[in-house]
Amino acid sequence: MSTSGISEDVLRDDIKGLGEVAKDTALLNGVLMRTKDTPNSSEVVSYAPFTLFPSPVPKSLFHQALEAQTHFNRLVDRISQSPDFLEEALSSTIKVDDFTARLFSIYRQVQQEPQTLSIVLGLNRSDYMLDQSPDGTTSLKQIEINTIAASFGGLASRTPDVHRHILKVANRLEESRQILDNNPAAGLAKGLAKAWELYGSERAVVMFLVEDVQRNIYDHRYVENELWLRDIPVIRRKFEDVCQTGSLDKNKRLFVGGQEVAVVYFRNGYMPQNYTSEQSWEARLLMERSCAVKCPDISTHLAGTKKVQQELARPGVLERFFPNEPETVAQLQATFAGLYTLDMGDEGDRTVDMALAAPDRYVLKPQREGGGNNIYGQDICGVLEGVKDSTERTAYILMDKIHPQPVSNYLLRPGAPLQPSQCLSELGVFGAYVRTGREMVMNECVGHLLRTKSCAHEDGGVAAGVAVLDNPLLI
Ligand code: ADP
Ligand code: MG
Repeated sequence: MSTSGISEDVLRDDIKGLGEVAKDTALLNGVLMRTKDTPNSSEVVSYAPFTLFPSPVPKSLFHQALEAQTHFNRLVDRISQSPDFLEEALSSTIKVDDFTARLFSIYRQVQQEPQTLSIVLGLNRSDYMLDQSPDGTTSLKQIEINTIAASFGGLASRTPDVHRHILKVANRLEESRQILDNNPAAGLAKGLAKAWELYGSERAVVMFLVEDVQRNIYDHRYVENELWLRDIPVIRRKFEDVCQTGSLDKNKRLFVGGQEVAVVYFRNGYMPQNYTSEQSWEARLLMERSCAVKCPDISTHLAGTKKVQQELARPGVLERFFPNEPETVAQLQATFAGLYTLDMGDEGDRTVDMALAAPDRYVLKPQREGGGNNIYGQDICGVLEGVKDSTERTAYILMDKIHPQPVSNYLLRPGAPLQPSQCLSELGVFGAYVRTGREMVMNECVGHLLRTKSCAHEDGGVAAGVAVLDNPLLI
């Protein structure tokens, strides 16, 4: 955004006009979200928050992220099939973290039951930031992998056309032509469709398990409608519906409201608050015990915990999962930031000392998803001082803080003034895989998501109201 030779007022008017064009274009392209006031109604809706301009991303790092995805898919899948590893990795966490402990008890319970059919569907998103080191080099660093309810694949399929149009109107035709195609909705639906086909019953449905509050419904609808295009029936149900009308027959087929469910796609169930009653937990267990394909199954859900991420970064661990693939190991390891255990013992003690000595260099993370849970800066000292001598500290992991290069942009958000802000971006890469028995029948990278937030916020995604949708402009 060059300002040379243009007066501030003219520029402000131009940006304002462009902002209006941008909002209308988002609406016309279906980049939509329900409003805070009426989150369960489609009578009055708004645009999903997004950036006025795409953000620069170095081409080589973008491709590095895409190329790692099928390996991350395989890694998650292999972890999910490694009871000894999961048991060991999570043993300290489940003693102090009730949520992970509950998930783990469901895992143990279903492990003991004979599994009749093994079709596994993984739809995940590996998130990265581009770390700017003091010597000026930039490297791709993984923030986390989301193995449950990874969102915005739907809306991200619609944002490229919005930025293309804005750039044309802004007289930046060359850049407009550089905006990449992106269609994660189709790729995620392809995985769901494949799992549904393998399940092998025309009448059976794909069930989206959804939250009580559904502001982000349009993101789901893109994936849902891709399935309907393939003549695959979709229903949307809540935990409560499964409690009230769910059952298993003698072959462990899952029925909800009288309909047989081939695939349960969890867009809910990743936070403690999602389980509003004991019945929600019973519903989760019922679904896990069933022969419906679960996306994710409980072991894949656990494979996405932050504790597992930290254990994977230990020397020699990736090699256990890829014994004869040193290149794969190197490729994945290259994206790992420093991750440190807080387990009891010398190693954990050193982590505590390190964090207390330089809290600004780290992020302290509990086993939570959905944004807004991490601890930064001086707050790290406050929390660690309180828990450092007890096992409570093992509910957390410590991670090196990543420092992306700030870029100036405008964040468009309903009701917010249009003003330039210094922003940071996070790149997500969607993966989809299907395995039946021992055979991977699909393993693909199915698209990307760029989210951008103001530097003023340390944490939080789009759903948390902090980050907004964006597109990479490869440089
Ligand atoms: P969640 O499961 O809540 O999404 P994340 O690990 O993705 O947890 O962290 C949430 C947000 O916090 C990220 O989107 C990112 O903005 C910020 N964040 C997380 N880890 C780091 C890190 N190591 N360095 C800098 N920012 C981070
Ligand atoms: Mg995240």
